[in-house]
Parts: sequence; structure tokens; C-alpha cells
Amino acid sequence: MQIAHIIVDVPTMQTNAPYSYLVPADLQDTLSKGMRVIVPFGNGNRKIEGFVVGLEPVTDQDTSKLKEISSVMDFEPVLDDELLELSKWLADKTYAFRISCLLTMLPNVMKAKYAKVVKKNHQLTDPILDKKISPNLSTPLDDKHFTEKEINQLISLQKSHDVDIEYVVKNEAKAKTELAIQNQITDFADVKSKLSKTAKAQQHLLAVLQDHPTDKLIQKKLVAEEGVSPSAIKAFATKGWIKKLQVEKYRNPYKHEIVRDQPKHLTTEQENAVLEIDQAIKKRKSETFLIEGVTGSGKTEVYLQNIQTALNEGRQALMLVPEIALTPQMVNRVKNRFGNQVAILHSGLSNGERYDEWRRIRAGKAQVVVGARSAVFAPLQNIGLIILDEEHDTSYKQDDNPRYHTRDVAIWRSKYHHCPVVLGSATPSLESRARAGKGVYHFIRLTQRVNQQKLPEVEIVDMTQEVSKTGDIFSEELLSSINEKLAKHEQIVLMLNRRGFSSFMMCRDCGHVLMCPNCDISLTMHLDSHTMKCHYCGFEEPIPNVCPNCHSHNIRYFGTGTEKVEKELQQLLPHARILRMDVDTTKRKGAHERILREFGNQDADILLGTQMIAKGLDFPNVTLVGVLNADTGLDLPDFRASERTFDLLTQVAGRAGRADKEGKVIIQTFNPEHYAIQLVKRQDYEAFYKREMKLRHLAGYAPYFFTVQLTVSSTKEDQAAKMSYEILNYLKGQLSSKTMILGPTPRPIARIKNRYYYQIIIKYKVDQHLADALEHILQGSQKESRKGLRIAIDSEPVNFM
Ligand code: ADP
Ligand code: ZN
Ligand code: ZN
Repeated sequence: MQIAHIIVDVPTMQTNAPYSYLVPADLQDTLSKGMRVIVPFGNGNRKIEGFVVGLEPVTDQDTSKLKEISSVMDFEPVLDDELLELSKWLADKTYAFRISCLLTMLPNVMKAKYAKVVKKNHQLTDPILDKKISPNLSTPLDDKHFTEKEINQLISLQKSHDVDIEYVVKNEAKAKTELAIQNQITDFADVKSKLSKTAKAQQHLLAVLQDHPTDKLIQKKLVAEEGVSPSAIKAFATKGWIKKLQVEKYRNPYKHEIVRDQPKHLTTEQENAVLEIDQAIKKRKSETFLIEGVTGSGKTEVYLQNIQTALNEGRQALMLVPEIALTPQMVNRVKNRFGNQVAILHSGLSNGERYDEWRRIRAGKAQVVVGARSAVFAPLQNIGLIILDEEHDTSYKQDDNPRYHTRDVAIWRSKYHHCPVVLGSATPSLESRARAGKGVYHFIRLTQRVNQQKLPEVEIVDMTQEVSKTGDIFSEELLSSINEKLAKHEQIVLMLNRRGFSSFMMCRDCGHVLMCPNCDISLTMHLDSHTMKCHYCGFEEPIPNVCPNCHSHNIRYFGTGTEKVEKELQQLLPHARILRMDVDTTKRKGAHERILREFGNQDADILLGTQMIAKGLDFPNVTLVGVLNADTGLDLPDFRASERTFDLLTQVAGRAGRADKEGKVIIQTFNPEHYAIQLVKRQDYEAFYKREMKLRHLAGYAPYFFTVQLTVSSTKEDQAAKMSYEILNYLKGQLSSKTMILGPTPRPIARIKNRYYYQIIIKYKVDQHLADALEHILQGSQKESRKGLRIAIDSEPVNFM
């Protein structure tokens, strides 16, 4: 007999301690750590999902009170020892429950859903109802099968034990399979002698089998590609010369033809970087490198050559990129170098495709994995190199439980696998740059562009002077430069910065601003659907003609949306071919890719877009980059506002002049003197770093202090406020006097989806009592959640809105 330790999925009764269950006799041999199981929980008929995290033999424990595992959901472990261990660390590190850590590591389709089913214990008196419930099976208790009246009837029948209603776990992750054949012949000569000379089809099949004596051959492929006849297969199967079997089939999301490319001849700077990292790969050292390389310095080529080294060493590589930089262009660069051994994980894939890629990785069929944040949990078993490109990007931080940073997980895994981590960026996060400065990370700089081109010249246009002349979107400067480039048939990238809330509808007579009824945020106009939308909760209403407050017709739209800019631009430049890229134009699958392909083929002159276009694009014919509004992010209530603005502008500026033609950048701003903008003009990250560090030091923020953000929310404002004061008082009693506690204050957007948010910020250097205090709050949060209060703990938050 065995006892299994199981982390169960019960939303409001979480605990990080596993529950013990008995392993039933028929599962003794199959059950192992890392499998998901279904177990009974509580007193009723409730069935829930759980993860087996340990097994022990029964010796002299009292097992009489233990329940038995009901069934297994997997036939092999979905998480290996490494990932199980990682989940434990992650739960501690991020103040999350272990179940949410385990679930976050798996592809979406494997997140179990629960359904209610009904079973009858005998024939029911109501004939219609009786017919609807199949005799031996469970029938889903949903509105597809039963009317509302019938559901109520069933609930009362449950009370009289005529039917049972149970929760079951639905497993939606179904691997696709296909038919294959496998050779069973040992003596080929003998079989050959038994075949008639004229049986050409059977002779052919025999030859194929002789070439692949141990492989599982996909029947469909044999017929289509090898010309094997289905009747020959049938004949061989009857004679027992082949065995038919089902093998797992992987959907291939990658439809491009792979054009194999060769490693490039490296520049001296690139070569030094590659060599240094190669050393760590070969010596199996878990070191962290920071590559600070100007845009176009060829960081990606460095990564690719290091990946090759890892592969040569018989190991695997994991390359992480921000979701929006995971463009087809980026994917092609890796695929073209490493072919089909590359697996891609990103949100553009369907759930099924993602699941298939995940299984391919787990089965050891992919040696290189490229993906966004959650790919850091890819089930690779022999990692020789981990890369985090654009390491400063905020999408690396998960905004929901577990609130982990991809960088921390990458470093944890590198220690487990004894391999280096490479962080790369033109504008590293201050935290990483500071660690490199202290020697915690190895610091590598790439200061030159590969093409020997200068970095593009950056011009700052003061919009406070321009508005009166040409309206508020395009300066004369920018327009004339666009015209100049159009005449030369060169391409232009224009970015409209959408960070912050810059666009709203306001009444010119009474000043009323159109707000979302559910959130404390103004509505944004969408011309395609002719509606005003809330970007936080999805609320939508028709664009009004009159002010809802004073009924004046003098209601106007302020700020700019990409659609509006596109219209205006087209009017100013009737012959320019403009492509627009924003959330609206990229909603459909493949749209993102199509826009970039068109632009790459030079079927358009201008690519106009939001932040989405700032990263990763590498188009040689782009010689002008324009930023329409540099400052919308500058005054956000976030201590990283300047850093974000500097990063974004540097990234987008880096899209110009990447090949042999010189590039130019025009930045329109209302804050021309702001240091973040001035230093972008000089493209001087190091100067920005020094300046910003001083400010962070003065204000007591990262990287000098650690921060933890606590957010309390409720649909009742007073409840949220009261709770946040209770937490404040508790913390005051627990934490060191050197630790600073700010707040509670309402969040900058104080209400979202009719929930009120209060936040507390903790700033500290060392505090021995903090972890315990936060753990205590986490445990207590479950009791509160039953009263509708939500408490979130975010260590090193990146989102203060
Ligand atoms: P970064 O990621 O640093 O912005 P990329 O890796 O995208 O830079 O490189 C910029 C361009 O230079 C790409 O088109 C890339 O193919 C090319 N490139 C990189 N390294 C070399 C090299 N050693 N020789 C020639 N071209 C290179
Ligand atoms: Zn809203
Ligand atoms: Zn009004």
C-alpha cells in the first residue's frame, strides 16, 4: 500500500501542505509523482483535481481516515522533479499558493474544468426526465440537456436520493493520434521467398520495412509519399508481419518553408561575447550575463551562435522574448538556423497547437524552445543555455497569481541545470544593470552597430510651438521628412504612444468627460465599431452626439487614436500607402504577420502603429522613424515612468537605419527638456542609467530598495478601505522600523469593473519579518475572499495602475 501526497485545487481553501490519499490497488504500479489525479474532497460528492507531489509506502500509519484516489488524469507525469521543486520555490517567492504555481506551468488546455453531472439510482417516475438520463452514464447537468425546471426537479430528487449530482473534472487536453505500422519481421529473406515475384506492391512494402526495421511508420505518409498500397499493408497485417498502432500526432503551427541560413561572420564585439558565453556553456556554469547592446548591434546573432554551442554540447536551449517581439521575423530567424528542432510557444497559437508543441518538447523532440513569458516553464530536461531577450520588458512579469518575474525563474532553472543565462537589451532594467555593475552578473557591451552605421540621428520637436501651426498631430518637420523619404522610396515607421490615458471625449461647454460606468477611467473612441469603449472592462456604448450632462452639441474628442491619425495622414499624403498596426487591426489570427509581410515586401510606405511596432522589427529600407507623442507615459504615477519612456523611445528609434542606409528619428514632445527625452536624443543609455539611479536613490526605490505592493479590493469601497487599514496596522506591528510603509491609498485607477482598489506599498532593504508577515496575510486572505474581499501581494510590482 502507498500513500500519495497531493496538492489539491480548492479555490477558497488553499494550503501549501499536501493532503494524504490512499493509492488504490489498481493504480499502485502506474501512479507516479507529477501526475494529475482526481480525488474526493470534503464531505459531499465533490471531486477535484490534484497533483501528486510525493509517494510513500504505508508502514505503520493509521490509514483508516484516508480517502482513496478516484482516478488518474494522465498516463505519464506532466511535471518532472525539477518543475515540482520549482513550484515550491515559486510559491514561497511570490506569495502564491502552490496549486496556482503548478497550474501556471502547464498549457491552457490542461487546466481542468469542472462540470456537474447527474446519475440516476433507479428508473424515475417522470418519463421525460428518465429518458434524458442515460442508465449507466453520468449526464452533464447543464442547460443543453435540461430545462431550468428540470434542473430544479433533479435537485429535489437528489434530496430523496433518487439521483446523485456530482462534480467531475473535465480533461480537455486530448492528444491527436494517427495510424502507424511497425515492422515485425526478423527474417526478411524468408518473407521475400514467400512473396510471389509479381506481387509488386507487397515487394515494395517489404523493401520499405527493411529500410526502417524498427521505426513507427505513419500509414498516411507511406501511402502518399512512398507509394505503398493500402492492400499490401492489409495483407501484411493479416500475416502478422506488421503491427498497427496509434502514435501521437503533433499539429505543426509553423507553415513557412524553412530556408536554412548559415552563421554570420561575427564582428569583434560579437565574437568576444560569443566566446565568453560559450565558455560558461561548456563548463556548465550557472552564470548570468548581461549584454547591453545598442539597437542593431547583432545581439540575436550572438544568441544564435551560443545556442549552436549548447546543441553541439548535446544540450538544449531556451530563448525567451516578449510576446510582441515574437514576430514571424524573429521566429524565422531561429527556425532558419535550427530547422524543425525548434518549438515555438506563444499566444498566437491555438490551445491545441500550444499543447502539441508542449508535448513535443516534453517528448524530447525539440531542442530549442522560443517563447514568451510562460515558456520559461517549458518541460526541457537538459538545458544548456537560457536567453532572455529585451530583458527589461514589463511583459516578463506576470500580473496575476503567481506574480513571478521570468528572469527569476530563468535564473533558478539555470542553477538546476548548471547552465548560463543571458539577459540582453539595448536598455537593460536598472536592476540588472546595477547587478552587472556590482559584478553579480557578467557585463558584456556591444557598442557598435553591425553595419558600421552610426546610430540614427535623433531630432526633438517641441510640440508646444507647433500646435498652432499644423494642428496637434504632425509637425512641419515630421511631414517634410516623410515627404522626403517617400520621394526616395524609402520606408517610414510612425509610432503613436498609447501608454497612459490620452484620449477621451469631453464637452467643451460643461467640461464633462465621458467615463466608464464601471471603472474610474474615461472611454476611448473606436471609429471602426462607432463606439466608445472601456479598455479595462470592455464596456461599450454608441458615440454620443450630445453631452449626457448638459445636452450641448459641443462635445469633442481629445487626444489621438491610431485610426484618427491614419485618416489625417491619408488626407495630408493622399498617395502614401499606409498600414496600421494596433490592437484593432491585429485581432484576427495571422493579421499581425500579414501586416509585417506587406511592409517587408515594400507594399506600403508607412507603418503606423502603437508600441507594438517598437520592438524586434528589422526592415532594411526603413530610414525614418517618427514618434508622434513621446510624453504620454511620462507623468504616470509610477516610479519607472521615465525608464519606460526612455526604453520605448530608444527601441523605436533603433528601427531606423539598420542596413546600409542612414536612419533618422523625429520625436515630437511637449517636454523637450525632460532628461529621458534629451538622453534618447544622445542615445546614451549609460548616462540615463547614472542619472536615473541618483533619483531612485533619493526617492528610495528599486534597485536601492525592494518593493512589495499589497492591493485590497472589494465591490464595497468602505470594506476595502477598512481592510487595508487593518493590514497596515498588522504590518506596523510586525515589520522592522527601517521598513517604509506607504498608504493605504486608492490606486490611481481607483475602481475597475465596479471593484474599489486600495494599495499599500512596502519599501525595504532587509526585513527578517516581512516574509512571515506576508505569508500570514496570504493565509488570512482566503477567509476574506469568502466575504468578497480580494487581497493581492505583489513582490517587485511593475504595474501601479
Ligand atoms: P539587435 O538584436 O542587437 O537589434 P540584430 O541581431 O537584429 O540586432 O541584428 C541587426 C541586423 O544585422 C540583422 O539583420 C542581422 O541579421 C544582421 N547581423 C547581425 N550580425 C551580423 C554580422 N556579424 N554580419 C552581418 N550581419 C549581421
Ligand atoms: Zn470599464
Ligand atoms: Zn456638457
